[in-house]
Amino acid sequence: MKLPIYMDHHATTPVDPRVLEAMLPYFSETFGNAASRNHVFGWEAEAAVDEARAQIAAAMNASPKEIVFTSGATESDDLATLGAARMYREKGNHIVTGRTEHRAVLDPCAQLGKEGFEVTYLETDRFGQIAPERLAEAITDRTILVSLMLANNEVGTIHRVGRIGALCKEKGVLFHTDAVQGFTKIPFDVEAMGVDLASVTAHKIYGPKGVGALYVRSKGPRVRLLPILYGGGHERGLRSGTLNVPGIVGFGKAVAVALEVREEEARRLRLLRARLRDGILSSLPDVLVNGSPPGRIAEDGSLSPGEEDWRLPGNLNLSFAGVEGEALLMGIRDIAVSSGSACTSASLRPSHVLKALGVPDDLAHSSIRFGLGRGNTAEEVDYTIETVARAVKRLREMAPMRGSPSMSS
Ligand code: PLP
Repeated sequence: MKLPIYMDHHATTPVDPRVLEAMLPYFSETFGNAASRNHVFGWEAEAAVDEARAQIAAAMNASPKEIVFTSGATESDDLATLGAARMYREKGNHIVTGRTEHRAVLDPCAQLGKEGFEVTYLETDRFGQIAPERLAEAITDRTILVSLMLANNEVGTIHRVGRIGALCKEKGVLFHTDAVQGFTKIPFDVEAMGVDLASVTAHKIYGPKGVGALYVRSKGPRVRLLPILYGGGHERGLRSGTLNVPGIVGFGKAVAVALEVREEEARRLRLLRARLRDGILSSLPDVLVNGSPPGRIAEDGSLSPGEEDWRLPGNLNLSFAGVEGEALLMGIRDIAVSSGSACTSASLRPSHVLKALGVPDDLAHSSIRFGLGRGNTAEEVDYTIETVARAVKRLREMAPMRGSPSMSS
């Protein structure tokens, strides 16, 4: 086993060797500009982009022409929210989103608030789920857009996107989903789920950083967006700028590989997560699991018959009462994880996601997000259990808990 151990796969992932190999020729040998229509260099680059576009579209049951390449999911989320709101401003000025969304959705929504739009932020239950009735109540005849994510990046909660999409269709409102954390890991089908706009990014699925895509529905309804970048009119005028051909090729390959290993990887990660959770909970008192309880699993990691799982297979988010998350991170330096206070801001405010779930501030400050991924092994999980248990015990001895009101309430 090699140290340090990487267990932060919601933040980013290493590029898969098969992805890197697919990308390499497009840096030097096949370096053309995909927009060069007059020579073979351009045609080759365009053919490679077309193949990746088809791979990404197929993975969400879309058509290749509905895929717009961007620099990543932040840009995709900005283009979807700002672009749709500004385009349909005449129809209405109301947007609905959720308290547990990523900043890449919350911040453009706040910007739209400054531009005269009204934004409703839906509350979630303690697992991070949005009740469809709450969404139905929030939609008015002025609502033009709903933006709710597929799966949460901190607690791994999977939204019932199909129900949300059906509701939006019924009310005639556009539905955008930030599908970053769930894409290629859990079923995602823009047709079956009634999704009109979907943001995805390569670097969370073992592809390169700096490349993403936005799915934009072309019929039933045809979604129109006002661009946020102007220039050469690439990507049907929705996103000007020379395409990142090697990145796009890598994104396509990453999707193909991820789909191939999806079932097996989900089973493996569920087993590792159960091992990590059970190991930590049996070594330490006063540890809370944040987010949805995962469904019961069989010995091979598949879901037991009749079980549903509303949590990403690789996600575990725990609060260690009486211990500062930041101090714990220092105590387990050779394991790369995230704390609930560090991920959103430098100001050490507790995570807005945990707050939305009703986790008290002290427990939000003591939370750690474990993001298991392709490279992790049972041996690494066992080392993590031991290291975390040792560090938490030491920190608790240094600053003993004075009763812990949050734990008993
Ligand atoms: N949305 C979610 C849910 C994320 O987890 C991330 C990653 O941090 C983003 C959006 C932003 O993606 P990118 O890094 O590609 O801009």
